[in-house]
Amino acid sequence: MASEPVVHSPVVHCDVVCPFCGLGCDDLTVEEGPDGLAVRSTGCPIAQDRFSRTPPAEPPRVAGGPVQPDDAVRAAAAALAAARTPLVAGLGTDIDGTRAALALAERVGAVVDHALSDGLYRNLAVLQRTGWIATTLAELRNRCDLLLVAGPDPAALHPRVFERWVAPAPAFQEPPSREVVFLCGAPLDATRAALAALHVSVLPGDPARVGDAAAALAAALPDPSRATEAAGIAAGALAALAERLLKARYAVVAWAASAFTGAHADLTVERLFRLVHDVNRHTRCAGLPLAGHDNVVGANQVCTWQFGVPLRTSLAGGAPLHDPYRFDWARYAEVADCVLWISAFRPEVPAFPAGKAVIALAPPGTAFPAEPVVFIPVGTPGIDHPAHVFRSDTVVALRARGLIDRGLPDAAAVLKAIAAALPQEAPAC
Ligand code: SF4
Repeated sequence: MASEPVVHSPVVHCDVVCPFCGLGCDDLTVEEGPDGLAVRSTGCPIAQDRFSRTPPAEPPRVAGGPVQPDDAVRAAAAALAAARTPLVAGLGTDIDGTRAALALAERVGAVVDHALSDGLYRNLAVLQRTGWIATTLAELRNRCDLLLVAGPDPAALHPRVFERWVAPAPAFQEPPSREVVFLCGAPLDATRAALAALHVSVLPGDPARVGDAAAALAAALPDPSRATEAAGIAAGALAALAERLLKARYAVVAWAASAFTGAHADLTVERLFRLVHDVNRHTRCAGLPLAGHDNVVGANQVCTWQFGVPLRTSLAGGAPLHDPYRFDWARYAEVADCVLWISAFRPEVPAFPAGKAVIALAPPGTAFPAEPVVFIPVGTPGIDHPAHVFRSDTVVALRARGLIDRGLPDAAAVLKAIAAALPQEAPAC
């Protein structure tokens, strides 16, 4: 008698923490079947894509040829030890991985930066210049009665921001109510669906001039009847919005600075925070800069608590030297002779100028613009191993658990092994 084929039920992981975009959704249902992982509980395109990209492990490579892990670690250590201007960047890893990367960078005197720090610095530059009044996702969800969304819809980068943090009724507003206004940007279809139960209005001005609209709003606060046209938005519409801001009990101005186009996006952010500041003369208001892909917020936290300064810092001179212009990784890559690039969250590594010794720690299946000197496959935080990542609002570190075992090391273990393989420092006399 022919035996029945064995059908294995998929393993179902519930309440999975998603580590990818900084929103920290902790409610995912992920199925583990013969074809890998599949997210079943949400249509978030980022989560769907990232959890599904789990090809089998592959061996490390040196100069394009497969090698044993120890040999790859020794080759990476040799390249870093020989470097005069090393760059340790990408930093797409969890908190443990970032700590190990920064410790290694300190040993070799490298410049450190995150792949996505450009968007981060559009906000941080304002914090450094003027300070800011910022809030958290929990405050947005529980207290905000008027949300002003500035510029392009942030759901393009943080797909569930409205579903998770805006659509639920505020817990501490009586009666619970919330209104959403899009300023110089139109809501995506998914955003409209998520906000279907709320009052939503759109002031469709020029997204590249959202800073002008914010400045006009701030100027209109003392007397909305004197509002002037800005960014293609009529004076009357800005006057009505100024009135609404003045009547709010807890207004929040939110944006995703990475979505801003044009030069000097930090000046746009500065005008948004200036609006927040001015509304606070009349009622409560806070800004909410959305960021956090690939744990960029966590990387910046670790750098700040380890060295007292944020990312874009050189560890070459004995004391940390922070310079957000010189030590932008894309700029420093031009002069670096060795690049250690860490991209554990996504199988993507940028092209570097020719002649650099590139060491890449990235997931299996990464397609390189040019074969690196050393490639060491690593696991993805929150998929292959447990991981701590920071949420966009910087106040919460989430622990994501490991889901599968592809036999891949985590980035922290590889970075510590590379550090251990460096030549011993001569003892001080
Ligand atoms: S919105 Fe962000 S954190 Fe939430 S499921 Fe999508 S990628 Fe993950």
